[in-house]
Amino acid sequence: MNMPTSGPRVLLKRLREVMAESLGAQDRLDKIVRHIAANMVAEVCSVYVLRSDGVLELFATEGLNPGSVHEASLKIGQGLVGTIASTARPLNLSDAQHHPAFAYLPETGEEIYNSFLGVPILRAGRPLGVLVVQNQAQRNYRDDEVEALETTAMVLAELIAAGQLEGLDKKGAGLDLSRPQRLEGVALADGIGLGYVVLHEPRVLVTNLFNENAEFETRRLHESLGKLRISIDDMLERPDVARDGEHREVLETYRMFANDRGWVRRMEEQIVNGLTAEAAVEKVQSDNRARMMRQSDPYLRERLHDFDDLAYRLLRELVGKPHGPLKEKSTRDYIVVARNMGAAELLDYNGPQLRGLVLEEGAPTSHVVIVARALGIPVVGQVQNVLSLADTDNAIIADGLDGEVYVRPTEEIQSAYSEKVRFRAKRQEIYDKLRDEPAVSKDGVAVNLLMNAGLLMDLPNLERSGAKGIGLFRTELQFMVASHMPRPNEQENLYSAVLEAAGSLPVTFRTLDIGGDKVLPYMRHEQEENPALGWRAVRLSLDRPGLLRPQIRALLKAAANRELRVMIPMVSETREITAVRKLINREVELLTRFGHSVPRRLAVGAMIEVPSLLFQLDELMQAVDFVSVGSNDLFQFMFASDRGNPRIAKRFDPMSRPFLRALRRIVDAAARFDTPLTLCGEIAGKPISALALLGIGFRSISMSAVYIGPVKAMLIETDIARLEQALLPELDKPSGGQTMREFLTDYAAQNGIPY
Ligand code: PEP
Ligand code: MG
Repeated sequence: MNMPTSGPRVLLKRLREVMAESLGAQDRLDKIVRHIAANMVAEVCSVYVLRSDGVLELFATEGLNPGSVHEASLKIGQGLVGTIASTARPLNLSDAQHHPAFAYLPETGEEIYNSFLGVPILRAGRPLGVLVVQNQAQRNYRDDEVEALETTAMVLAELIAAGQLEGLDKKGAGLDLSRPQRLEGVALADGIGLGYVVLHEPRVLVTNLFNENAEFETRRLHESLGKLRISIDDMLERPDVARDGEHREVLETYRMFANDRGWVRRMEEQIVNGLTAEAAVEKVQSDNRARMMRQSDPYLRERLHDFDDLAYRLLRELVGKPHGPLKEKSTRDYIVVARNMGAAELLDYNGPQLRGLVLEEGAPTSHVVIVARALGIPVVGQVQNVLSLADTDNAIIADGLDGEVYVRPTEEIQSAYSEKVRFRAKRQEIYDKLRDEPAVSKDGVAVNLLMNAGLLMDLPNLERSGAKGIGLFRTELQFMVASHMPRPNEQENLYSAVLEAAGSLPVTFRTLDIGGDKVLPYMRHEQEENPALGWRAVRLSLDRPGLLRPQIRALLKAAANRELRVMIPMVSETREITAVRKLINREVELLTRFGHSVPRRLAVGAMIEVPSLLFQLDELMQAVDFVSVGSNDLFQFMFASDRGNPRIAKRFDPMSRPFLRALRRIVDAAARFDTPLTLCGEIAGKPISALALLGIGFRSISMSAVYIGPVKAMLIETDIARLEQALLPELDKPSGGQTMREFLTDYAAQNGIPY
């Protein structure tokens, strides 16, 4: 009988033999790279080990110039190898030299190799090095080859962690976790948080890789799967979960996945190949992560993310440390650090000691970020490497204003930030005192200060902030944080709760604004070249009455016998308003016919977010009961400047003449037709830009609840008539001299207006 000479089982057997031989660490490493090269028919196999100073040093190679061992090196994040270490993800390239991250190391002689497959060497989630194979011919490595290399990387992690490799300093391999680190990311939710690191997924160290008895390991796997299923069922029984719709959905998805045959089979296969149960779980989990990275479909990405979380829970079952964060809450202030997490998972951590969230991924529209904003905690996202550099109980600062993170900050940094936090708290006390003061300017002009909301947890802020109503209720948030399409009764329940909380204060509900950057994971959608300009908001709603009609019905029922204000997002032409109005009227008719009560008064408004409306303002004002400027989108479209792209975030200024002139035209048109006007974009919440809005004639603005105080403090000190006199002539000046922002800050400073 011919014995196989390659494949995962043979490779594992070989590795096991090498680990059992009495060899020095370096010899073992050399032997392993030779075996891998032979097993995978690769011309090159190399191991790079991460030193404590963040440099990846070539420690062994088969195929590259032997003289480059211990000579060739790359910094973490640099070149393909450095990228793999910093992202903790594999790279599989058929034409490596043309990859944007490629960095040429002349001493290695690698210029003749085109194909490249590299995997991170991880121990408990932390990078210790990178394992690479290369071939001259252009080829894509198969999935089973990626798997074989990952398995080898697990073995190498043990070898490196044993600490016997020469040439590493006292601290051994891996990054130095005692030094202070300042990391840059993207500010996703306002505020500053100081505390200690809580890792969302505390590291689980799998040291026992090779099994002695596959049957025994398979049994262990199934026992733990059984316990996992029971623990999910238990959580579903918990009274708080039973109540909380958003959280429940996630757990139900987990329950479904915990019974997924394909997942279980892949783990069983790894055990048959020779791994222990925990190594098999970890192995399948890293395959999943690699697939997750390649997956551009947001729906499938979310599903793979759920699997990732579940695999992690299973791993904790196997090593006897069942999943903790739900129960174990820290007794001191903490900041949660994660690669990414679901919205419901963040709610598990909520409590007075939760001070911030730091993510390696995360975007302004991530569900978890939306929820964090509602909870009022700062979030810094896209912080590369933070999981490798931060450890449980390290001191950490999350600066959600500047998008910075300090891990193990120095005393100076800590005290500077503590001072900042104290200062902000003092200011907040002043704002709290203003809560019941009327929102009236120094010269007696009343201004309507409203708040933006979208989740149940926003509602207590209505009273806390002293807002005079909800100027923008983003109904899509309920859809975005759920794991399934909210049913009509769930929509109605939310709208009723909102109206009840608002009492006699007005609430403006915006119909679904999905599409573009607001993706529903459970709704199939086609990839679009320019999603922001694509099939979204009212365009999608009108094409899918099956979505809009139940929402309108839920709104009409929730607002029975009171006023209902409905606002349409992303209107481009007035006939879209007519179409929505028609649909609403038909629903009113139907409800009345079936004996339901309907709202006492109905107001239909449009958001001004698309520049085309600026050239049909007269028609628009006559077609609606009110308008509200969505300045975030209006600005993005007027300046052709993606609102979510940090590279251009500060390039153009909404406080510039062209944009303020456009807003002024809207104010004039609204006044001509006596159409109520509000503005509900981010600029309403910054005192300096709100000052500009007052100066050009806005008397109603809507913002996040936290900004009501600062804006009111500005308003009280402003003489609006004087401001108008000074500002309007400035608007007509050519650019080149003082910018509008400079003019406004000077004006505020000279007139004692806090901004
Ligand atoms: C806006 O575009 O200004 C707006 C308020 O809507 P959103 O931020 O939800 O797109
Ligand atoms: Mg918008």
